[in-house]
Amino acid sequence: MQLDVMTLFPHWFDWFREQRHVKNAMEDGHEVRTFNPRDHSDMSARQVDDTPFGGGAGMVLRVDVMEKALRGVYAQDPVELRKERRVIALTPGGRVLDDAFVDELAAEEQGITLLCGRYEGFDERIVQHFCSDTLSIGRYVLAGGELAAMVVCDAVLRKLPGSLGHANSAVEESFSVALDGDPEYPHYTRPAEYRGWKVPDVLLSGHHAEIETWRRARSRERGDGGSRLGR
Ligand code: SAM
Repeated sequence: MQLDVMTLFPHWFDWFREQRHVKNAMEDGHEVRTFNPRDHSDMSARQVDDTPFGGGAGMVLRVDVMEKALRGVYAQDPVELRKERRVIALTPGGRVLDDAFVDELAAEEQGITLLCGRYEGFDERIVQHFCSDTLSIGRYVLAGGELAAMVVCDAVLRKLPGSLGHANSAVEESFSVALDGDPEYPHYTRPAEYRGWKVPDVLLSGHHAEIETWRRARSRERGDGGSRLGR
């Protein structure tokens, strides 16, 4: 799968590509590519943004520069491109990312393209005419789309075969179908007792069916709002 990121700060992704699960996915043939709209600007000083019509603070990414950048990468009118490929504007007000949205994106055989905003964000015509989706990683505002793009790439890549060490790791985890959409159950490891805090007996029992029942119940409990932690 091709995960393409349009960003003014492509070097941020050098670190991301070095991470083990990302490397695994890339060795398996998946790609995380970055493109800088600045490389496609023919304005002076390779300008990519401008002041907002109507006034106000900040700078807005220009629609003509984004078109050139998308045409440069895909050799296609971006208005047509979005009919064939998920081109996603990262924006705080977009569709909030959840496991179902990640599954949808991971199923995109063509690959996906993530557009990172900066400053005030995008000229709205970029979103309206070049994008198939908007995506928010949560209802708060980051300085730019790069971290949001990494969140999306990370979540999508872990869904792809080969990127995780253990084949089952992504099957039975929080919000998966296997857990009926509930959060995952608690895990414990050695020591079996620490400062008087004991691992639940059932997990040491070796009874697989009982362990399964216990885990399912804990998972459901968490789905129902979980328990409040002390402090
Ligand atoms: N003026 C915009 C607003 O009020 O909605 C905020 C722009 S923000 C400072 C700059 C860029 O960061 C956005 O264009 C977007 O690409 C990215 N960004 C910020 N918060 C985000 C979030 N929660 N999810 C996805 N992208 C986000």
